[in-house]
Amino acid sequence: MTNQKEVLILGGGLAGLTAAIHLSKLGIQVTVIEKNNYPKHKVCGEYISNEVLPYFEWLDIGISKLEPTSIKKLQFSTQNGTTITANLPLGGFGISRYALDFHLYHLAISLGCIFVHETVENVVFEKDEFEVTTSDGTLFKSKIVLGAFGKRSTIDVKLNRNFIQKKSHWLAIKSHYIGDFPNDLVGLHNFEGGYCGVSKVENNVINICYIANYEAYKSHKNSEDFQKDVLSKNPNLKKIFENATLIFDKPLSIGQISFDKKEAVENHILMIGDTAGLIHPLCGNGMAMAIHSAKIASEVVFSYYESKCSRTSLEEQYIKKWKFNFEKRLKAARFLANILQKPRISSILMRTLVKLPFVLPIIIKKTHGKTIII
Ligand SMILES: Cc1cc2nc3c(=O)[nH]c(=O)nc-3n(C[C@H](O)[C@H](O)[C@H](O)COP(=O)(O)OP(=O)(O)OC[C@H]3O[C@@H](n4cnc5c(N)ncnc54)[C@H](O)[C@@H]3O)c2cc1C
Repeated sequence: MTNQKEVLILGGGLAGLTAAIHLSKLGIQVTVIEKNNYPKHKVCGEYISNEVLPYFEWLDIGISKLEPTSIKKLQFSTQNGTTITANLPLGGFGISRYALDFHLYHLAISLGCIFVHETVENVVFEKDEFEVTTSDGTLFKSKIVLGAFGKRSTIDVKLNRNFIQKKSHWLAIKSHYIGDFPNDLVGLHNFEGGYCGVSKVENNVINICYIANYEAYKSHKNSEDFQKDVLSKNPNLKKIFENATLIFDKPLSIGQISFDKKEAVENHILMIGDTAGLIHPLCGNGMAMAIHSAKIASEVVFSYYESKCSRTSLEEQYIKKWKFNFEKRLKAARFLANILQKPRISSILMRTLVKLPFVLPIIIKKTHGKTIII
């Protein structure tokens, strides 16, 4: 790769695909290295905040073609089933990652983006250029690399990133079901050791996705037992599971989910999406953040090529914008997740919310962004 305006993106999930579309639209030659093929199901709550909609329009994503569900309300419950419902200040939509990522992939290809289906093994930065090696031994060179390889990857190990040195106690499980559930609602139900999100995606399918502490999970034989013995103690979840039929062969699971702080730029790579920091899924804002960070990175890379500014200035601009947009949200989410895992404080919070329901939308706002401005 010797062209002037080119970008190499490591990972083709939501952040990588969004940046690929944005940069391709601006005339930059993009190569995405993605280890999996599309379409593919992913462990995700699949609720996206409406804050992304104007940006999706600008990118010509045509999200309505995928017929997502429109979600306007949040139902939140404690482990014993005490429940409150609130309107979501901005609202959102439900779409499966299977459909969304596949759609974005096709759009990126139609804009001239190149996809390489290989696993990135190593990234070296030397003499103002990156050398990226994939598992089949191919070497890619590029002036700009975006890191979009998600929550946890072998690339994090190679880069010796801080968070990868620590064990994480969170695992997550997701499945699709058919059954009875309102179209316009996202349920967020607490159980001992975790939270479960329930909402509809396209085709009237219900997505049930939960995150659990490994300590709470490990004494159970499998996810079915865990659902029966632990999740179903929350009467809301019991009712949902009783009225839903699994349509996956078996649930998908992932482990070692870390919410630790990460750097937005590491080894000169601009990190986008979960690679720069994962917000707790109970906030339902990770995808909007992945999409938004891809926008910010695409803009600074474009101006780097246009104005021929220095690499130091490119990295400083990205870090500044990333912090401005996401740092407070991540802090608020960490604080909230900690509170909700402490039964006594959490029950005081719930009693307060039942008496003062207008407080819930205020909390939601703290963990969400404003509509993304073009
Ligand atoms: C349990 C759970 C529920 C969630 N629910 C919601 C929700 O309801 N709403 C919401 O907004 N957010 C939610 N999130 C967060 C959301 O899923 C993420 O923030 C979002 O997927 C981030 O996108 P990404 O592109 O950064 O990462 P990903 O979508 O994970 O993409 C990373 C890509 O990199 C590829 N990759 C990794 N390593 C390599 C390698 N070495 N070589 C090549 N390719 C590689 C992977 O195959 C993958 O395709 C949830 C997260 C969890 C864990």
